[in-house]
Amino acid sequence: MADVLAWLTSLANLVNVNLEFEAKKKYGRGFCPRCGMRKCICEE
Ligand SMILES: [Zn+2]
Repeated sequence: MADVLAWLTSLANLVNVNLEFEAKKKYGRGFCPRCGMRKCICEE
């Protein structure tokens, strides 16, 4: 039981890190999520 819980926790952590990584990869470098431009053109 404890093993399963630990496994689930680590799995959730893994997914969380993955999601964070994907989000950073997508939006973390200054790319706008709306126009997809590095330098946003939709807020001018
Ligand atoms: Zn934009």
